Amino acid sequence: MKILVCVRQGLDGEINPFDACAYEEALRVKNAEVILLSMAPPAAKGFLLNLTRLGAQKAILLSDLAFAGADTVATAYTLSLAVKKINPDLIFCGRQTLVGDTAQTGIMLSVYANTSLITNVMHIDEIGKSVTCTTRDAGRQTVQMPALLTIERINNLRLPSILSKEGTIEVWGACDIGADREKCGLRGSPTRVLKTFENEAGKRKCKFISFSQLESAVADALKKNREKVKPEACGSAKLAKVCTVGEAPMHFAKTVSDNIIVLPFLTAEALAEKIAELKPDALLWGSDWLSKKLSAQVAAMLGLGLCADCTRLETDGKKLIMYRPALSGSIIAEIESLTFPAMATVRTTVNSADIIVAAGWGAREHIEKVKALAKKLGADMAATRKAVDNNILPYDLQVGLTGKTVSPPVYIAVGVSGAVHHIAGMRRSGTVIAINSDKNAQIFDYADYGIIADIKEVLND
Ligand SMILES: Cc1cc2nc3c(=O)[nH]c(=O)nc-3n(C[C@H](O)[C@H](O)[C@H](O)COP(=O)(O)OP(=O)(O)OC[C@H]3O[C@@H](n4cnc5c(N)ncnc54)[C@H](O)[C@@H]3O)c2cc1C
Repeated sequence: MKILVCVRQGLDGEINPFDACAYEEALRVKNAEVILLSMAPPAAKGFLLNLTRLGAQKAILLSDLAFAGADTVATAYTLSLAVKKINPDLIFCGRQTLVGDTAQTGIMLSVYANTSLITNVMHIDEIGKSVTCTTRDAGRQTVQMPALLTIERINNLRLPSILSKEGTIEVWGACDIGADREKCGLRGSPTRVLKTFENEAGKRKCKFISFSQLESAVADALKKNREKVKPEACGSAKLAKVCTVGEAPMHFAKTVSDNIIVLPFLTAEALAEKIAELKPDALLWGSDWLSKKLSAQVAAMLGLGLCADCTRLETDGKKLIMYRPALSGSIIAEIESLTFPAMATVRTTVNSADIIVAAGWGAREHIEKVKALAKKLGADMAATRKAVDNNILPYDLQVGLTGKTVSPPVYIAVGVSGAVHHIAGMRRSGTVIAINSDKNAQIFDYADYGIIADIKEVLND
């Protein structure tokens, strides 16, 4: 059994957290030959060799000037050529990188490498002639080998022992994998970042209230949400025809076109045919797991640019300009697609309840009381990573950069400090209410209402 693990070095020099989980899962498969694959500048050699000390027999570094500046389509194309040369039984990728934050490359790679695909893997149940996994959103799935799995943050990567030895490394350039230079790097990338600017979104003016005013603040917020006006178009020029897959991206579509066709969720092949037939100016998808998977598959099949997680769209009547948060949400990137139709997933809500109560580390000793508050308000629960990592609440409740994105009408953060990684997953909520004993907690910068209080004192029986 040969398992290829795709890894990327983060801005902090460490392995991307999701790739670390993919690597650990591969190392746990008995009698497997594990090979690491990364596309990066030559300086990443040391990073990869260091990782081989954990158990991979070999690392392959794809490094060539022709690969520089690649978006997800060009990256997946380049990786796929290495995959064809290595010919693994299984490919493991992290769900997403924190740098790119698109969750597209693994899915696109499965199209170019012609493998089966299971996304958002929470547990690998069985590997034989086929592979069966439990997924985050789509239950148990079985597919034939060779298969590509995108792995959630489900384990901790082991540490090297002092006796562990380095494996070997090979550096492959464009010629070694027979790459068409026109399809690699910036030249082969159908999306372009036009500019970036600081992301001020999510910051709010906090009004401090007492705990006894919580329920009336929630009721007001829900009322305001019902009266909320839908987003207005950013200019008078509109695109002639926009398609959406499902209804979820509708209010984004309306900001850039008056002629919107809603397509049903079909297979990626059937959707690709529909797009060729309808020739829309833009194709928009929601941010649920199926939309993310299908959009990346369709983009790879048609060689189209795909901008992930857009929070705003604009048009001059001819082309679509897409805006998305990047680098943990600290900046906003303005992006255009060089291919037609432009494709984007837009940040739509994935929660069903009107209210979410999120528990942070500060709520660890009072979690039953926080749950009771959520029940009383008819709210869903959520958690910070620190609460999840310490087994206070399960991972599927984690909101943030390495969890899920939610945008309910009301988000109540209890004992949450407001780290940028958490804010990235909830900044688009309607009204944010924070309960924290520290009046200087950063969460108050992102809250409409603040309650400075000790949970122990306000959430009593
Ligand atoms: C690469 C990376 C990815 C990450 N991804 C995520 C992610 O997806 N989601 C996420 O949430 N985090 C993520 N993190 C972690 C993030 O940086 C923070 O460490 C985490 O969000 C902090 O969780 P917290 O707010 O629960 O805990 P803390 O930062 O410890 O804050 C606890 C808060 O509770 C308050 N408090 C304590 N006791 C009480 C009390 N009795 N009553 C009232 N208030 C009290 C404190 O004042 C404090 O503000 C990530 C980090 C990294 C490096």
